Amino acid sequence: MFKAPFLVANWKMNYGIKQAVQVTADIVVGLRGMRRKGQLVLCPSYPALLSVKQTIGDESISLGAQDLSGQDRGAFTGEVAPWMIKEAGAEYVIIGHSERKKYCNETDESINKKVKNALKEGLIPIICVGETFEERQENQKDHVVLRQVQNALDGVKVSPINPIIIAYEPVWVIGTGQAIEPSDAEYMHTLIRQVLIDLYPLVVVDHHTAILYGGSVDENNVDEFCDKEHIQGFLVGSASLHSQQFLKIIEKVCKESSAQS
Ligand code: PEP
Repeated sequence: MFKAPFLVANWKMNYGIKQAVQVTADIVVGLRGMRRKGQLVLCPSYPALLSVKQTIGDESISLGAQDLSGQDRGAFTGEVAPWMIKEAGAEYVIIGHSERKKYCNETDESINKKVKNALKEGLIPIICVGETFEERQENQKDHVVLRQVQNALDGVKVSPINPIIIAYEPVWVIGTGQAIEPSDAEYMHTLIRQVLIDLYPLVVVDHHTAILYGGSVDENNVDEFCDKEHIQGFLVGSASLHSQQFLKIIEKVCKESSAQS
């Protein structure tokens, strides 16, 4: 089932197996009795995927990886293929995070290849886009983000069995504790939605795509974003590392979305 609101926890390179399992177990306990809506996705490091999946058990929490290879199999030392991620129990994969663009030479082209590779294996890509501070200062943000979305989706067919998620993450607020104005995010989301409508039939955009906001979301600011029409969930870094903090975010998002439906 592909249904907003989406809450994606990106634990980056912070937790190994033991800690990831502990935080997952705390989240599982904390969710008991909570009235939930939408999808919750935990994205631990590769080595922790299987253990986190086992800890999740039968709970309705999904698993995601933080990257994948653009290749499928063979002599690619250090790479992890989509089918391996799938085998570990993941359904989602983050692609093109700004930290991978900055430190690992990820480009529009490599991102597009990874998106296609993910979809081929039935993984749902969470495609990160967003402008840097310099690009925003130079009034380039709309252009940069539109380009990133178009290039990531070049030749990509979206359908009920191949849904996609775009995460708008202004690079300059990630990990700063200072999110952008919700109205600013809503503007960017409307723009991204328009690109999706130009690429795919409206019914496909409405039912098989989602646009999330990411960038210093926490339990104090999340509700200001929830009432924005085109924000269908959140990609959360720092504030997802601590189970109690993340549980508060989940609670608020579910409450707000129930109030709106
Ligand atoms: C991220 O890195 O995707 C992210 C949103 O991080 P933070 O929530 O810490 O800004």
